[in-house]
Amino acid sequence: MRNETWHGERRRRRLVLVPCPYQGHITPMLQLGTILYSRGFSITISHAIFNSPVPKTHPHFRFVPIPDGLSESDISSGDITHILSTINENCKLSFLHLMESQEDEIVCIIFDEHMYFAEAVATKLKLPTIILRTTSSATFLARFALLGLKAEGYIPCQDSISNDMVPKLHPLRFKDLPLPKSPDFKRAAQLVLDSYTIRNSSAVIWNTMDCLEQTCLMQIQQECPVPIFPVGPIHKIAQPTSSSLLKEDSSCIAWLDKQSRNSVVYVSLGSIASLGEKEIAEMAWGLANSEQLFLWVVRSDSIPGSNWTEILPKGFKDGLGEKGCIVKWAPQKEVLAHEAVGGFLSHCGWNSTLESISQGVPLICKPCFGDQRVNARYVCHEWKVGVELEKIERGEVERAVRKVIVDDEGKEMRERARDLKEKVEVSTRKGGSSYNYLNEVVDLIMSF
Ligand code: UDP
Repeated sequence: MRNETWHGERRRRRLVLVPCPYQGHITPMLQLGTILYSRGFSITISHAIFNSPVPKTHPHFRFVPIPDGLSESDISSGDITHILSTINENCKLSFLHLMESQEDEIVCIIFDEHMYFAEAVATKLKLPTIILRTTSSATFLARFALLGLKAEGYIPCQDSISNDMVPKLHPLRFKDLPLPKSPDFKRAAQLVLDSYTIRNSSAVIWNTMDCLEQTCLMQIQQECPVPIFPVGPIHKIAQPTSSSLLKEDSSCIAWLDKQSRNSVVYVSLGSIASLGEKEIAEMAWGLANSEQLFLWVVRSDSIPGSNWTEILPKGFKDGLGEKGCIVKWAPQKEVLAHEAVGGFLSHCGWNSTLESISQGVPLICKPCFGDQRVNARYVCHEWKVGVELEKIERGEVERAVRKVIVDDEGKEMRERARDLKEKVEVSTRKGGSSYNYLNEVVDLIMSF
């Protein structure tokens, strides 16, 4: 490693990392930063003001906010396509000025695929860039396919074909397609194109791994002009540190400590998805009727218009006792690593999916929108380590929980989940595919 002396201090080569401002993107980018820091690089996190990461959990990083110009109404619209497109339009100039004013030599900019304004700035400054992709490679292929499917008239999808297989996109059915939440398909399609096109970047780092997605990755690599490095699951390689935007309630770990092995189902729909009042009640009664223990994350904003658990059915709350634990936000990786946890009822965001798989925890999949549907389909149909929850109805929730935690019917699935955990572990160990790809990333950065 080349170290330099500057103003009498030893300094390291500096990388600028530009995360996309959502929890599921911030986490893998900060974890990548932690890994690269441990390999000797200095790290700057240059981030939008919206959903700013919490600097104190990463004291070795330098945090540089970029004015993003988002208005209250942009943010409250919840339209992710609009928010990301606006950030890309607004951040370019400020980011250019920020980069020009940095005193350290910047070796490379690593940006989340959705933060492509960073690449335009890097090109202007003649700096190398690497893209970080934080969704599955199956999602990448499916999102690209949406553009063609729209032109062929398949989108919007008719109910009559929702269970049909999508041509050339095995194993996805039309209902598994990662359709954008935004009403403006054209703008969402443009965002996909801007995020997925390789312009001047030298490589793609991907939070996935060969043992899960080799076929999709090979297909993408054939078309991709630069090397792809599937180094995932990044959280298994990085030193464990929290990158939560919300405060983690660790009291649930003490509660888990009191429960027996594989006896608890963990329930969480990630940082964005939310349920309606009726679904909350059905979920509550399904969990209670399953007679299994549960740890349920109910975010304070997860039921629009309500104050946290006020919305839960009174009879359910009165009978809760020691059968369940409800928190606003959990230290999820610690929860999934806890031996008391035997199943995960999840919306199947890519991070949650990887975190569950890499702990050998089988899933109950209730995707809500976008890429979650693709991930859920792969979990249940390809890797066969989960069951699908068609709708949040108490009987279905009860059956799915029992299947994953206790019923004989779920035995093979539980075994497959343990096997997959082992494969994932092998890929991150010395000589494993993710381990080797990570070394290649470091070599590439050193060559700039
Ligand atoms: N998470 C957490 N505590 C919770 C719920 C979620 O720390 O109570 C973390 C989880 O570990 C994951 C991230 O939030 O890393 C959610 O990302 P994911 O891609 O699963 O879903 P998204 O929030 O993007 O829909």
